[in-house]
Amino acid sequence: MTIAATLGYPRIGPRRELKTALEAHWAGTLDEPGLLAAGAMLRARARVTQRANGIGHVASADFALYDHVLETATALGAIPDGYGWDGQGPASLATLFALARGARGTEAERAAGIAADVPALEMTKWFDTNYHYLVPRLSAATRFRLLHNRWADAVAEGLAEQCRTRPVLLGPVSFLLLSKTEDGSNPLALLPALLPAYEAALRGIAEAGAAWVQIDEPCLVTDLPAGAAEAYATAFRRLADAAPGLRLLLATYFGGLRDNLPIAAALPVAGLHLDLTRGRDGLEPALDALPAGHFLSLGVVDGRNVWRNDLRATLATLRGVAERRGTRNLMVAPSCSLLHVPHSLAREDALDPALKRRLAFAEEKLAEVSALARALDEGEGAIAATLAESDRAMAEWRADPRLRDATVAAALAAVTPRMAQRISAYPQRAVAQQQRLNLPRFPVTSIGSFPQTAEVRKARAAAARGEITAEAYDTRMKDLTAEAIAWQEAEGVDVLVHGEFERNDMVKYFGERLAGYAFTKHGWVQSYGSRCVAPPIIWADVSRPEPMTVDWASYAQSLTTKPVKGMLTGPVTMLFWAFVREDIPRAEVCAQIALAIRDEVCDLERAGIAIIQIDEPAFREGLPLRRADQPAYLDWAARCFRLSASGVADATQIHTHMCYAEFNDIIGAIAAMDADVISIETARSRMELLNAFTQFNYPNAIGPGLWDIHSPRVPGVEEMVGLLRQAAAALPSERLWVNPDCGCKTRGWAEVKPAMANLVTTARRLRAEA
Ligand code: GLN
Ligand code: ZN
Repeated sequence: MTIAATLGYPRIGPRRELKTALEAHWAGTLDEPGLLAAGAMLRARARVTQRANGIGHVASADFALYDHVLETATALGAIPDGYGWDGQGPASLATLFALARGARGTEAERAAGIAADVPALEMTKWFDTNYHYLVPRLSAATRFRLLHNRWADAVAEGLAEQCRTRPVLLGPVSFLLLSKTEDGSNPLALLPALLPAYEAALRGIAEAGAAWVQIDEPCLVTDLPAGAAEAYATAFRRLADAAPGLRLLLATYFGGLRDNLPIAAALPVAGLHLDLTRGRDGLEPALDALPAGHFLSLGVVDGRNVWRNDLRATLATLRGVAERRGTRNLMVAPSCSLLHVPHSLAREDALDPALKRRLAFAEEKLAEVSALARALDEGEGAIAATLAESDRAMAEWRADPRLRDATVAAALAAVTPRMAQRISAYPQRAVAQQQRLNLPRFPVTSIGSFPQTAEVRKARAAAARGEITAEAYDTRMKDLTAEAIAWQEAEGVDVLVHGEFERNDMVKYFGERLAGYAFTKHGWVQSYGSRCVAPPIIWADVSRPEPMTVDWASYAQSLTTKPVKGMLTGPVTMLFWAFVREDIPRAEVCAQIALAIRDEVCDLERAGIAIIQIDEPAFREGLPLRRADQPAYLDWAARCFRLSASGVADATQIHTHMCYAEFNDIIGAIAAMDADVISIETARSRMELLNAFTQFNYPNAIGPGLWDIHSPRVPGVEEMVGLLRQAAAALPSERLWVNPDCGCKTRGWAEVKPAMANLVTTARRLRAEA
């Protein structure tokens, strides 16, 4: 019989219960038993939901209070010194949260022996998703051993409710490849030390009563480093022997195996899971390569997007497989864990009904998986009604006249290569801009937002509830803007910003003003820890019915003779921070957004705004996992940015902003974006990030961040001067700007005011030296 399976389920809770519980615990109003009970309740609910929807292999141990990679590391004993671990038993919750968030200097931490100043582990993106994991910090001294068997515990928890689950274990090779060693040595060298802990975990899982264990090795869909193939062979030989009788399912996702298929197919496991939404062309080769008795888990329901599955088309694929292999050893599953989609459509009562009919969130995807498995065994007739409904939704979708907009199509067809190119090259533009703007050396600016204080958020909530009028709200935001302009002017900032007080969020604000976007009420997806995002849905052609920011920019500019930057979110970021339609290529959706932003840029220019910043913090996020796929992405992404930016005269200055590490592999594309000025995050890395720009001989202007806005600490002038001198030694000083790392919306005025003042003093100091 075909098995309906899941690889993991959302953990935040349909009403973000985990967020509420975590924040209450951190605030000291929910004790440890209370927090653990909230977690247990969410796990129980996830099991019930999966079973009620016909899932046979229910995932377990996919839950984590903060992050599953962190909890894998702590369970395996990979806990650095200073975090209050006694070196013996399981890590305490205080230790776990200190690793996740850094020490906060609380009483509880002191009691737990946690050093007052330990920082959080580094956090980074989980492959190409918007989930962030904590990077395990390892060293040759790490003494791996199983401190507590969270996987066996999860199995036991399910069995206590007569639910036999399949625990999910991050595999040893991916675990090491996702970690960092303190001395930068190859983490794979730690494999022999790590494997006994995994063997112990598997033995415990078998003893707890599991029949299957899912071992996640998502690194198998990436370009593997030297030594990884051998590591896989060694590791899985040991794991297979650890608990005879326990069946191992090797799970790969976020892409196809491609050249790694021979590695995966040769491992001594009972089954292999393939992501067939992103690695569709990997199916045939896998069918050829897999040994006969192997189970094959077919990831046909997209775990990364919110669209409803075309059940009939999927069923045809599944039948093709069944004809070759029979259904005895088949599983049907989502492509990856459902962690990356919202919980359920049930409470989305404000969505357009036709749009809602074409969506499936986690809960709805479970039903799709089990219907597919059932149809494979019992024939189409067994799911006739479901299939008919799917057919109807697909037909309605394809025929929906709102998907395509003839005006947008015509505008796209009229795009010429010249439109994606500024009139003159950067050196000429720089001269024209300097004539117009007459800026001093080391011009001082900020990234855009100023504190979104409780007062700002309260006013917005009151306006949303209709407690204050839209006019009253606008007046309040205008007053704040006016105060911010006056303060920046008095402080001596050279290029001012209006402060973005009126914006709820840098994507939502624009999405709400563009056609083609829809928003959910409860579509929350975990980003990290208690942080969630509710990505908008791009479902139809994107266009701009009317100007979005011109009034605010003009108002701010009317208050000062200094230049005020217009502030926009770029097309690539608008694309990647959304769930995107799949009936047309992503590059085309991005170009549509680019044209909408381009109109806004031109309107701002017409309104007299001389400097326009187009933020692209998600530019790197779109980078495909495989190097072979990266050039094509970088090419269209940079082109879409240029399309949005290039409708203006030479004398109008275009800025962009990106905040993250690692520019080395995208520096060519950043140069190809051809922004006149790019501001980046460099304070935390002590200017290390600039190396990519120096080595590349980056030709345009750069604003390296001098203030790490992620920390409440305000750096002094000496520290900022030091950083700026470092930058000036690496890059031509006439092309340097002075700014913070990122927007200041999460900071308080008590930090922003002195920090901006210090930036101005720093710039003045270096000007005097020049
Ligand atoms: N202009 C935005 C701001 O200052 C940029 C935010 C970002 O980089 N994520 O808030
Ligand atoms: Zn930023």
